[in-house]
Amino acid sequence: SSRTASEVRSSFLSFFKGKGHEVCPSASLIPQNDPTLMFVNAGMAPFKDVFTGKDRRPYTRATSSQKCIRISGKHNDLENVGVTARHHTFFEMLGNFSFGDYFKDDAIPFAWELITKEWGIPQDRLVITVFGGAEGVPADDEARAIWRKVTGFGDDRIIGIPGIPGDNFWQMGETGPCGPCTELHFFTGDGEPTIDTFGQEPTPDGKGWMEIWNLVFMQFNRSEQSPGVYELAPLPKPCVDTGAGLERVASVLQGKTSNYDTDLLRALVEKAAQISGKNYGASQSPDDVSMRVIADHARLTAFLMAEGITPDRAGRAYVLRRVMRRAIRHGHRLGIQKPFLHEVALEVVRTMGDAYPELVERKALITSATEAEEVRFRETLERGLKMVDEEVGRVKSAGTQLLSGDFVFKLYDTFGFPMDLTEVIARERDLHIDVAGYEKAMEEQRTRSEGSKLEDEAVSDVYRKALEALRASQGGSETAAVRFTGYD
Ligand code: ATP
Ligand code: MG
Ligand code: MG
Ligand code: MG
Repeated sequence: SSRTASEVRSSFLSFFKGKGHEVCPSASLIPQNDPTLMFVNAGMAPFKDVFTGKDRRPYTRATSSQKCIRISGKHNDLENVGVTARHHTFFEMLGNFSFGDYFKDDAIPFAWELITKEWGIPQDRLVITVFGGAEGVPADDEARAIWRKVTGFGDDRIIGIPGIPGDNFWQMGETGPCGPCTELHFFTGDGEPTIDTFGQEPTPDGKGWMEIWNLVFMQFNRSEQSPGVYELAPLPKPCVDTGAGLERVASVLQGKTSNYDTDLLRALVEKAAQISGKNYGASQSPDDVSMRVIADHARLTAFLMAEGITPDRAGRAYVLRRVMRRAIRHGHRLGIQKPFLHEVALEVVRTMGDAYPELVERKALITSATEAEEVRFRETLERGLKMVDEEVGRVKSAGTQLLSGDFVFKLYDTFGFPMDLTEVIARERDLHIDVAGYEKAMEEQRTRSEGSKLEDEAVSDVYRKALEALRASQGGSETAAVRFTGYD
């Protein structure tokens, strides 16, 4: 029987509640204690200090469905969105966590019981990966042995993936907790699963092997002995961190090959189709990609605004602006003539407001701020696009393939085109952009405006020092975040 995404979420949480886990509500998308992270990008992120022992909780087992954004840093899925059937900028990660409590012996049977008994996912469509070893670190034979016992699978269905870094070895950072992973992959193709196609990318319509759940066994501590020399020592109390994408599990349980066909996203894609007068799903066309991008980006927009972030020039607010302008431009290419993104964002509130009341509380802000941003961007969008096409013509007739940094900067400065938007447009026309040149132009403008500010104010040394101290003291998370992605 098919389950709604809401039922998938609650069945996950109550399964782990039944195994003694504390059910924790999703934390904010904005990391509370981690200045190196722009957005929470995994279920474990809010528990990071608990894993390292810096923070304590009254429980040693937890479960959550965590709002995540993967758009910067180590995990940046922006370019995959709309193109693959299974990557989003915003998604929910289901997870169960052990803080020095249970380990592999329990974590693996828990996952198997939930997947096959509670959810009834057919075993013959699953493959497991385990850590296959790397120089100085042995393969995870423990996990393999447990999986063999629990599943009855032979080694052909329990695949060792070697390498650090790699998909099956997780590290918190250069130093700190780390350890082997094991992943569950589901076959969404037609007919019998073909193990020999494992490892290949699924087709654009989502057929093939898809990772649904990742279990991390934090088992070692990695420390730097001398510059560049690291040592792995066993952790006295190993931990477990798991993550399963809600959208992916929902697609499996609803018999779909694309996350966009689940009840989480289908209504949003349909909304984009209705507004544009296009037919979604008619083909794997660029129009379909645009509708999926709009659906995805509308979710990110609604959820970030629900946390009080509105589009602006720096930090997280600029990331939001970039994503919104990307969605608006996709709407424009679908032929939508007037502001529309707020209507799709409203659909997000409608479909997800029960699970996330903050959407309902901020509904008015979400609508008005989304529409205002689109009105503002549409004022220059047409002229900017026209300028791009003229420039593309010039570049192509000169026989080159590069949009200059100065041009990309001018588009940003005059027409409000974020660099990555210009990059997408360029790529569609078989060109690239000069990223380094753009950054240089950006830096020059920054220096110019700071220089003139200082001159205007005819600063004394004392003032200059005070200003520097002020800047340093403001170097909190927002500043770190800006540096992090290279945007301003
Ligand atoms: P993939 O290899 O498919 O990119 P991943 O290995 O990067 O996934 P993990 O970091 O292991 O993903 O995250 C745990 C789970 O979260 C994944 O198994 C998947 O179900 C889900 N997930 C990861 N990234 C995304 C995304 N961008 N959109 C939707 N779900 C995701
Ligand atoms: Mg990934
Ligand atoms: Mg993976
Ligand atoms: Mg993974």
